[in-house]
Amino acid sequence: MAKLVQPEHEYTVELIYHFTCKYCLEWWSYAHQPSQLENFDLRLPREEPFWCPHCGTQANLIVKEGFPV
Ligand SMILES: [Zn+2]
Repeated sequence: MAKLVQPEHEYTVELIYHFTCKYCLEWWSYAHQPSQLENFDLRLPREEPFWCPHCGTQANLIVKEGFPV
């Protein structure tokens, strides 16, 4: 009797962070591929300054007000 092979689809995971500069109001995105699928911390460091790629303003990151986390 032939053994049935269960079909499979492959998938990958990519996280996309969306940023908005509070000074020039432009936005940009950053894609990240996690190194593990469980127990992954989605937060970005608050103490490390990031630069707006549009106006160059350096600022720390905070989660956007109203985002449901
Ligand atoms: Zn800016």
